[in-house]
Amino acid sequence: MSDDRKSDDQLTSQHGIPVGDNQNSVTAGSDGPTLLEDVYLIEKLAHFDRERIPERVVHAKGAGAFGYFETTSDVSRYTRAKFLHGKGKKTPLFVRFSTVAGERGSADTVRDPRGFAVKMYTEEGNYDLVMNNTPVFFIRDGIKFPDFIHSQKRDPTTNAKNPNMVWDFFSHSPESMHQVTILYSDRGIPYSYRNMNGYSGHTFKWVNEKDEAVWVKYHFKTDQGIKNMPVDRAAKLAGETPDFHTLDLYDAIERGECPTWTVYVQIMPYDDAWTYRFNPFDVTKVWPHTDYPLHEIGKMVLDRNPKNYFAEVEQAAFSPGNVVPGVEFSPDKMLQARTFSYADTHRYRLGVNYTSIPVNSPHLSNAENYYRDGYMRVDDNSEGRVNYEPNSFNGPVASRYARKKEYRVEGNADSVPYTNHSEDDDFVQAGNLYRIMSEEQKSILAENIANDLKVVEKNIVERQLEYFHKADRDYGNRIADLLGIRSPEA
Ligand code: NDP
Repeated sequence: MSDDRKSDDQLTSQHGIPVGDNQNSVTAGSDGPTLLEDVYLIEKLAHFDRERIPERVVHAKGAGAFGYFETTSDVSRYTRAKFLHGKGKKTPLFVRFSTVAGERGSADTVRDPRGFAVKMYTEEGNYDLVMNNTPVFFIRDGIKFPDFIHSQKRDPTTNAKNPNMVWDFFSHSPESMHQVTILYSDRGIPYSYRNMNGYSGHTFKWVNEKDEAVWVKYHFKTDQGIKNMPVDRAAKLAGETPDFHTLDLYDAIERGECPTWTVYVQIMPYDDAWTYRFNPFDVTKVWPHTDYPLHEIGKMVLDRNPKNYFAEVEQAAFSPGNVVPGVEFSPDKMLQARTFSYADTHRYRLGVNYTSIPVNSPHLSNAENYYRDGYMRVDDNSEGRVNYEPNSFNGPVASRYARKKEYRVEGNADSVPYTNHSEDDDFVQAGNLYRIMSEEQKSILAENIANDLKVVEKNIVERQLEYFHKADRDYGNRIADLLGIRSPEA
């Protein structure tokens, strides 16, 4: 350290105390042991020892960017959410893209769904859309989620990924067929985060000023065009440039090539839900476009990189439970479980005051409540303001405006599956997707699946093959042929 530096360049401890030497620890004589009184050394090592926070149990590897959402049509007749009122209205936002199963340091170019989480800093609080790049999910009930993720992560004995576990779970969960078909299609490895769509998958309720409701699903369609990564290129990049997607997003924004997405909703009249041919709340199903076409509502632009990865991306915390007035939940059982689990994991990962971290705090509104104290309370903790409600003094009160619309439920409290709608089954929509694929896409899909199944135990493969056949006979036959197995039908 040079002695002639200006005072604001002075290296200090966490307590602001000037440090005299950052190269040599204090020892008893030049060759002697280190002294406990070197409190700066101890602080430096102790801080380093605590640098890692718990990794997200899923979606651990990600990249983020700031930008804005701009409305291109007025949907105030459907929802009272103010950020959607009027044309040309801009709302700042933060987005985090991610893989699902890999750890924080894992490669980007793997076959995996991609997370597509958007936090909009609206004037009525932060609205999170915690989406994926696929319109459906592997399971329809959150009670299966921990088992599903265990099967996709590491074998408890070997600590390696285990295709038997992966396919054992799928073959015991036929509702996964639709998502498995998307995952193993050419879209299973996107070329970049910029070249993929985002889908809410879940159904949400929009409620207008007159308390009238409709059901909606969101679609964020990439303006860069869908582009996928061939498997051999992806495997090479996973070894050579494992952060390929992370760098692609960062570099594009630095170059001023700001990626954009056109945002649409499908709108279902409220009463259609009970009689529609598919259960509209089942997240393993889409609403076919012929039944419910896309309505454009806006544009999402990403135009600013985070300045610090840990502060803004690693500490970003999204929850499907964060909805603003005018947006409400549907009875989708996966969504209901997620509304609890996301905030819960953030309390564990970041602490109960995680909303004080700037990327998570409301920007265009204030958080006003009677929550106090807790670990790492770094704001003014509401100073001397009254900390209970109701009270005789002052402080925020609940407003009727923000109440959710009441809805009717009937039936017995019980552990039961969804009520079936006329065309519900686990295979029809997987088959519909297969049938709209080109010849080339069909053979890529079959090869991707067969390559995985080659090392999987016979009884699991046979169970799974039945599902491919049920989705489409040609789909099953192609995979059986590649595996050299007589198809169950034959
Ligand atoms: P449509 O022909 O109206 O829609 C087909 C959709 O399939 C398009 O949105 C297209 O997305 C998407 N698509 C094309 N290739 C793939 C692929 N390899 N993996 C995933 N999606 C792909 O038909 P339907 O609405 O009846 O849907 C038929 C099937 O399309 C569904 O079973 C579902 O698997 C899939 N799909 C449907 C969506 C929906 O909301 N209805 C959304 C996404 C997929 P794009 O236009 O961006 O190319």
